[in-house]
Amino acid sequence: MIIVLQSTATEENVRHILEKTEAMGLRANVSRGAERTVIGLIGPEDKLQVVPLEVFPGVERVMPVLAPYKLVSREFKGTNSEVKVGGAGVTAVAGGKHLVVMAGPCAIEGYDMLLSLAKNVKAAGANMLRGGAFKPRTSPYDFQGMGEEGLKILQAVGKEAGISTVTEVMDPRDVDLVARYADMFQIGARNMQNFSLLKEVGKARKPVLLKRGISSTIKEWLMSAEYILAQGNYDVILCERGIRTFETETRNTLDINAIPVVKLKSHLPIIVDPSHGTGKAALVGSIARAGVAAGADGVLIEVHDSPEEAWSDGVQCLTSAQFSKLMKELAAVANAVGREI
Ligand code: PEP
Ligand code: MN
Repeated sequence: MIIVLQSTATEENVRHILEKTEAMGLRANVSRGAERTVIGLIGPEDKLQVVPLEVFPGVERVMPVLAPYKLVSREFKGTNSEVKVGGAGVTAVAGGKHLVVMAGPCAIEGYDMLLSLAKNVKAAGANMLRGGAFKPRTSPYDFQGMGEEGLKILQAVGKEAGISTVTEVMDPRDVDLVARYADMFQIGARNMQNFSLLKEVGKARKPVLLKRGISSTIKEWLMSAEYILAQGNYDVILCERGIRTFETETRNTLDINAIPVVKLKSHLPIIVDPSHGTGKAALVGSIARAGVAAGADGVLIEVHDSPEEAWSDGVQCLTSAQFSKLMKELAAVANAVGREI
């Protein structure tokens, strides 16, 4: 339920509404705009129906949130959310004027390779380092990631290079472990509807990068984000990484439509991952540029300096030099649409 307050409503009016509704077990989220304050209420439908919200002092109008996702919806919060990553040393903010650029290898393969990549991508303008320590592989016989040893490397390299980090967590039992080492959790496409995992990262106090499921609709994706927000973690960045279609020329089909659709439906930031979206290094630049032009809040790009020797996803990695060239092109596109890198 959305409560729109009168432009003359006072702080006392807001406090009164919050006290009354919270005492009834409803959760409130206050959004203070330039002209008006809006209060979003979440709770069981039957409770919401019986509270005569219209009669509270300062209330102008009361409207139901029609979307099945509530906290995530634009109806609930009209202004764009900004998600800061990096704890004390914030190096990236998603959802503002500046784009967030996450770059690094698909998998962490060792300290030296990661440090060298971290320095290269940072010098090119990336503000976050990515790298998987737990890899969701289609075959159980493929390399599954370095595990905790990889997380230690990621943390040490992040500190050494002065860049915040993101890495995938695949198992609810590993949430605390990953939180000890990384600045942001990644929920991979295959786990977008792992509801126990979503609840667990929702309870943690670290930002979450929520990738779209391989065959998920935008509505299902936003419902998954709702699971995280419903646990009290509002720091969610969505990532369009391509969906499965009948096309076989590319690994996935990056759904550019999803960017403006998500912007209309939600206040959460959204980035694109053209590496998994295309599966081919030669296509990554075009789709990264298209994503930024379409209004994405950033990009996630896989980078490796010996793609032919990469332990995973070598075919879709850019080299540091190619990444650096792409960053210059992205800066020009960002500029054309009123953004900055
Ligand atoms: C990844 O980022 O390396 C990854 C496995 O991504 P996705 O979950 O989108 O396939
Ligand atoms: Mn990968």
